[in-house]
Amino acid sequence: MKKVVKFGGSSLASAEQFKKVADIIRQDENRRFVVPSAPGKRFKTDTKVTDMLYQCYALAEEGQNIHKALQEIAERYEEIIRGLSLKLSLKEEFEEIEKKFTGLAGKDYAASRGEYLNGIVLAAYLGFPFVDAAEIIRFDEDGNFDGNTTQDLVSGKLGTMDAAVVPGFYGAKPDGSIQTFSRGGSDVTGSIVAKGIHADLYENWTDVSGFLVADPRIIKNPEVIETITYRELRELAYMGATVLHEDAIFPVRREGIPINIRNTNDPEAPGTLIVENTCRTPKYTITGIAGKKGFASISIDKAMMNAEIGFGRKVLQVFEDNGISFEHMPSGIDTMTVFVHQSEFEEKEQRVLAGLHRAVDPDSIDLESDLALIAVVGRGMRATRGTAGRIFSALAHAHVNVKMIDQGSSELNIIIGVRNHDFELAIKAIYDIFVSAQL
Ligand code: ASP
Repeated sequence: MKKVVKFGGSSLASAEQFKKVADIIRQDENRRFVVPSAPGKRFKTDTKVTDMLYQCYALAEEGQNIHKALQEIAERYEEIIRGLSLKLSLKEEFEEIEKKFTGLAGKDYAASRGEYLNGIVLAAYLGFPFVDAAEIIRFDEDGNFDGNTTQDLVSGKLGTMDAAVVPGFYGAKPDGSIQTFSRGGSDVTGSIVAKGIHADLYENWTDVSGFLVADPRIIKNPEVIETITYRELRELAYMGATVLHEDAIFPVRREGIPINIRNTNDPEAPGTLIVENTCRTPKYTITGIAGKKGFASISIDKAMMNAEIGFGRKVLQVFEDNGISFEHMPSGIDTMTVFVHQSEFEEKEQRVLAGLHRAVDPDSIDLESDLALIAVVGRGMRATRGTAGRIFSALAHAHVNVKMIDQGSSELNIIIGVRNHDFELAIKAIYDIFVSAQL
């Protein structure tokens, strides 16, 4: 059994956190390939090393002296090295970094040093070999991730090793220049390494005990989701629930490698398992609830619309011509409603209305703003009758006016439109009826 373990910034923010990480790795002999982030925040108002590096590089670009700013970053690592009683000096590394910064080696190079240095420290502490991600993670000349070359490089290099620390977040272009993924990209590196070595599991260690059924800012101490499918995750992530970088899903999903989200500060907790498919019965009918505020709806009425071939296409063409993407489009016999992001729509509103009049000559167009969309997601809904009914009655009890309901044909999700100011109330009502009521 091979496991790739990725540790996020808060898991590696201090010597104390490093010790927890090493304990976790040593507890399971299958945890041999380790992907670290850069040191994150030690306390709420702290600054992540990645952000310190970006700031320091901005100084270099302005032609200012960066010595002091770099010294502060070096001190973050020194503190960890001292706390771990390691005999390791990063002096030469920092001299090189200072030179490269002054020579304006690039913003991505600058940011990547956070992971690079943390990888060196972690490798020394664990006694594992260090493999620079620049050697095995490849981008093309245009900066797009090159999956095929990377796969060959990763499996060629790591396939011959029985343990390694590979820093997250970056790789290199063919000319050797460093490029990073977008922020939070160490998740992506972990996934790529897991695919590259054909791992059986990708453990992603962070500071929460997994995906929560609902947003903890709305629901106090929500339940943790035990198992979630990639499709369910995608629906929830789209609606704003985040723990994992979106691009981290694709490499492992193709290979059928599950991801296990775990908590470094609570290693006994099983976390959340993300899988392609499962026959495990979900604990609750719903897997998760997520949502977003700030939508507007445009309802178009026209008698006999249903019989008019091409009506929907013409309507959507108007939105496309104005560069507006639509979120949902529930329809009735003689009405069609298009949900859009309010901020995107507002500035183009009159142009869209004129376009609709011209394109389909409607009887009326109704606009409504300040709406929220809530996605109730769960593979368990397929096997359970009356889910929509339960949602409706829970919302009615809570005096929430439902503006729209849309069930995807996969029966994996139900989208509910409510007023912005009913958003929290609606989520609470849905959580209570499906989760709290079953506890
Ligand atoms: N250190 C990088 C960031 O702060 C990447 C990561 O942590 O995954 O975005």
